[in-house]
Amino acid sequence: MEQSNTLQRLRRRLESNTGKAIADYRMIDDGDTVLVCISGGKDSYTLLSVLMALRERAPVDFRLIAMNLDQKQPGFPAEVLPGYLAKLGVDYRIVDQDTYSIVRSKIPEGKTTCSLCSRLRRGVIYRTAKEVGANKIALGHHRDDIVHTLFLNLLFAARLKAMPPKLLTDDGAHVVIRPLAYCSEKDIARFARGMAYPIIPCNLCGSQDNLQRQKIRAMMADWDHRYPGRTEAVFSALQKVVPSHLADQTLFDFQGLRPGGDPATMDGGDLVFDPAPLGEILPSLQGVPLAVRA
Ligand code: SF4
Repeated sequence: MEQSNTLQRLRRRLESNTGKAIADYRMIDDGDTVLVCISGGKDSYTLLSVLMALRERAPVDFRLIAMNLDQKQPGFPAEVLPGYLAKLGVDYRIVDQDTYSIVRSKIPEGKTTCSLCSRLRRGVIYRTAKEVGANKIALGHHRDDIVHTLFLNLLFAARLKAMPPKLLTDDGAHVVIRPLAYCSEKDIARFARGMAYPIIPCNLCGSQDNLQRQKIRAMMADWDHRYPGRTEAVFSALQKVVPSHLADQTLFDFQGLRPGGDPATMDGGDLVFDPAPLGEILPSLQGVPLAVRA
């Protein structure tokens, strides 16, 4: 009984966060067909479950089609997802495409295969979306994934770039949405455990998770442990970007700044980092004469 209450609370929180993300980024419109990518991991099971629940009470009418790509990895339990999806009563497609052999033949033994594998998978997903007439593609990435990607790009690719909640595909044909963008991995993991989803492990291919991603995960876990709420804070920061306090000349006209200009263009004023106490002290210094030495 206790566990079922906890599960209901988790479900409510996940649905509320997902609903908010969908509304904030206008992820789903009336008449949309959304292809929901199901890998067999905790995130995609949760995504499908939450989207199905939200569709029941959404103010707009949209269609969901679940999709799993069977990449022909050795040991992949091909019967699990069709059985699960049929029982759920959702429209679904299972796509058979042996990307595993392609990856194995192209990447030398011992090297990380994930980037080629994901590119191939993306191609199959986009093709399937076209075939089933889906205009949106929903992926199960959550808030922690987005923050980890930010740090990966920052520390290993020297770019201030994360993983957006909504994205136009390169060919412009589809919009990729990440409805779990406001959900924490912790909530999803607890929910998936409670729901006892038939999880299919992600490492059947034998590939090691990207080493840099592992390091970022460990770094954020450590920060969150020592200073709880850091992942949430970093995600919030992604929604409050201040171009005048970065250094990208394409985002802010630094060349055009002149004395006598409009201070309002400097979003956040001339304080670089202003913890509250300092912000409170500064006004009290107004009018105190300066001791200037020649
Ligand atoms: S872990 Fe294996 S299946 Fe998953 S992306 Fe990497 S190579 Fe592909």
